[in-house]
Amino acid sequence: MTATMQAVRYLGPKQDFQLRAVNIPAPSDGQVRVRIAACGVCRTELHLRDGLLDLGRRDFTVGHEIAGTIDAVGEDVSPARIGERVVIYYYEGCGNCRTCRDGDEQLCPSPRAQPGFTSDGGYAEYITVRARNCVKLPVDFPLTQAAPLGCAGSTAVHAGKLARLAPGEWAVIHGFGGVGMATLQYAAACGARTIAIGLGATSLQLARDLGATAIIDAAETPDVVAQIAAITGEGADAVFDLVGTAASLRASAAMLRRRGRLVLIGYTSEEFTIHPVELIVREIAVLGSVGSTLADLYEAVDLVSRGLLTPVIDRVLPLQDFADALEAVEHQALRGRIVLTP
Ligand SMILES: [Zn+2]
Ligand SMILES: [Zn+2]
Repeated sequence: MTATMQAVRYLGPKQDFQLRAVNIPAPSDGQVRVRIAACGVCRTELHLRDGLLDLGRRDFTVGHEIAGTIDAVGEDVSPARIGERVVIYYYEGCGNCRTCRDGDEQLCPSPRAQPGFTSDGGYAEYITVRARNCVKLPVDFPLTQAAPLGCAGSTAVHAGKLARLAPGEWAVIHGFGGVGMATLQYAAACGARTIAIGLGATSLQLARDLGATAIIDAAETPDVVAQIAAITGEGADAVFDLVGTAASLRASAAMLRRRGRLVLIGYTSEEFTIHPVELIVREIAVLGSVGSTLADLYEAVDLVSRGLLTPVIDRVLPLQDFADALEAVEHQALRGRIVLTP
């Protein structure tokens, strides 16, 4: 009889996730099995549940911010890796297309696996993944704190690179959740001056603690764009929009200086329209940013090891409380990521 484990399953759009008993997977050739210690709760899980993101697959385990310990290896993987503490890169591209050849597996049109999106993810006790997707963590770095590197940390590095931040530039973090906190720290590590726009004193105090040059409480600032102009003089060099509403995106575009870069990371059901002349005469670049490359995750881990990036955890909950965690992500002002432990 095969041993089973608890896993939180996505069954289809507009359905609540279900806790089920599923078989503990065995690693196949080139894979390892990771005993999961922690999995972060990302807003993307809400998008999956609500049907905003639907990649066509059904009946898989959700969760893509995964840290744990390798406990078994398949053929062609050195048994020396057993016991390694790792964070998991959640894309496995085809390896043959142009984007994969360039290292941009997150853009692969025919990925082999995407844990938590189209294949089994991290709201579970074990996962099997390609061995090279496991990035070794610094000694003694807590696995619960490492989990958010898998999405929030690596996404921040990726978006920051797309924005080509330079020392002294003004970077606006528009929306201050898990990815925003990491983006703020990455921008600061690049030498940029940072402005966090968030809601509520608690989350903005956190932005201050993380070294934001300035903070803006959107709830108490009638004209956020004017406030950015007052702080920066000519506008922001880069704005990272993590809110993704029509209103936030319009404001984000308006905050930019000439030749500024607008980086889109967050999204909602709302569409964003802008008159071309607003982009043309100011030479604005609009950049979509999705996930990260494997190299970006390595860089996030390196930043952690140098003390330049610290994942912030709001609370740790047991896996079976996943519904409470999602409810909190949806409705509460969090002070960092919620992490589930099996
Ligand atoms: Zn995510
Ligand atoms: Zn590919």
